[in-house]
Amino acid sequence: MITLYGAGVGTGIAIGKSYVIDRSQVIVHARNIEPENIASEIAVLEFALRNASGSLKKARDEVPKSAPKEIASFLDAHLMMIEDPMLREVTVEIIRSQLVDAETALMIHRNQIVEIFEQMEDEYLRSKKNDVDQVIRQIQLFMPSAKLRSFETFDENLDGKILVAHDLTPADAVVFMNKKMSAFATNLGSPISHVAILARSLQIPAIVGLHGAIKRIPHDVDIAIDSTKNIVIVEPDETVRIQLENRRLEHDRHQLQLLRLRYLEPRTLDGHEVSLLANVELPTDIESAAKVGTKGVGLYRTEYLFMNRDDSPSEEVQVESYSKVVRALGNVTIRTMDLGADKQVDGGRAQHNVAMNPALGIRAVRFCLHYPDLFLTQLRAILRVSTLGKIQIMIPMLSTLDEIGQVLGIINEAKSELTREGHPYDPAIPIGGMIEVPSAAITADQFAQKLDFLSIGTNDLIQYTLAIDRVDDEVNYLYDPLHPAVLRLIKQTIEAGAKFNKPVSLCGEMASDALYTRLLLGMGLKIFSMDPQAIPEIKHIVRNSAIDQIHPYVQQIFDCLGSAERFKLLLDMNDENSYPAESEVAV
Ligand code: PEP
Ligand code: MG
Repeated sequence: MITLYGAGVGTGIAIGKSYVIDRSQVIVHARNIEPENIASEIAVLEFALRNASGSLKKARDEVPKSAPKEIASFLDAHLMMIEDPMLREVTVEIIRSQLVDAETALMIHRNQIVEIFEQMEDEYLRSKKNDVDQVIRQIQLFMPSAKLRSFETFDENLDGKILVAHDLTPADAVVFMNKKMSAFATNLGSPISHVAILARSLQIPAIVGLHGAIKRIPHDVDIAIDSTKNIVIVEPDETVRIQLENRRLEHDRHQLQLLRLRYLEPRTLDGHEVSLLANVELPTDIESAAKVGTKGVGLYRTEYLFMNRDDSPSEEVQVESYSKVVRALGNVTIRTMDLGADKQVDGGRAQHNVAMNPALGIRAVRFCLHYPDLFLTQLRAILRVSTLGKIQIMIPMLSTLDEIGQVLGIINEAKSELTREGHPYDPAIPIGGMIEVPSAAITADQFAQKLDFLSIGTNDLIQYTLAIDRVDDEVNYLYDPLHPAVLRLIKQTIEAGAKFNKPVSLCGEMASDALYTRLLLGMGLKIFSMDPQAIPEIKHIVRNSAIDQIHPYVQQIFDCLGSAERFKLLLDMNDENSYPAESEVAV
């Protein structure tokens, strides 16, 4: 039995057989290209070569001094192969002459080299073809479409198994959820990445950022995941299994008790009304949102409808999908697609110009304005369902006021088209924006004047304010919602909304983390939107908090100069009149 540590996602426990997928086993489907795409395919190749060489250099530099010398020489040999100009030149020549994509060209070249090795008489030299394969795989890891194709063709039922992989995108997670995986563990990833958010909403426990997961967890053995304790236990013994089973039962019992709060209002002890709304991603969320008795949806992430398909969803498909959510939950803030960065259309297969910093590139509203036809279709679909309930449109990742002007232009175009065609829609549909880029938070007063409502996306606001990639587990330790810069931006946004009488909600993961509920209440937040699973617990805290008592702590937290002291103050604030056990408050 061994215990491995990573970062837990969700609060669940899962026990099952491991199913290890080594993503380096890439299946490449040859694709012909047009001559005008040669340059972009060469760019894909160069990006992959650069990154493969960078990651090998990093690995070599991190080899412990005590390790045998052969390890560094082995990595050096691979590095030399990657940096060999012939590798690049021959592959580029194949792209040009055979008009194939970079991945296919790389595989053709790989086959040529392997063939030469296979013809060698010397057994030792013949075995060198394995090094070629390892080098090619290292390069392929940085060719996103090749990586994902290996999952596209995945066709096994995982029924209750725990998936172990190098990394998963949100699109992959949906594929594996449909194959019934019960939990997953990945080498990479952070608890705030989109795939982690998706896992929480699907109630799939996961451990991410578990370096060496695919190396250290064998295929098809018993493993257990305990996401609250951030661990994976490989081949747990009987005692540990029993303990985990008991904890799982205890966890379920606790959740059930909290569910009894369903019919109680989220009102503070001193009488402040609070709204606890749900974040929904997939149709399965409708049921969990309804179960906890939410009054509506504060964030409907529509981009999931655009993933894992070869074409973009038609207006009719979108109307059908949105109307299901609206009919079930009534009051829905539909966010226009936030595609790009770690959420690629078509699982990334369509994207060949890999940006160096995708989170700073064509993402969210930038993506929508870049592809106005796709955006217009989505806006038409949203407007068409606007008569079915209380609908608002929310625009993600705004960074300038000009973007609002452009978005409003396309919304007006959609409205005019629908009027001409005789489709009914709500002409006064509120249009709001997400405040998740520091520029927007700093000028939140201006955004508040231009929009009908604001919603603070702390996942991205923290990423962009603290300059840490939210999917990179290596910088996850810097992800700090309590950082004074973050707190000031949140507060400023709440105050801007109050000044211009515009509702402000918070829909990042911070809203579903019980640690921050009192702090946010004390900062004036009245609308929280979160993973439906978290609503009962957050309601419990709201119902046992008095804003007057919270205020002095909030001030101290804002004035505090040390991060450890700040965290201690947060704990003290949560301790103050700490909440009675849920059984005492439950009806
Ligand atoms: C956020 O950034 O906080 C947010 C809610 O949006 P997403 O997590 O989908 O980027
Ligand atoms: Mg965001």
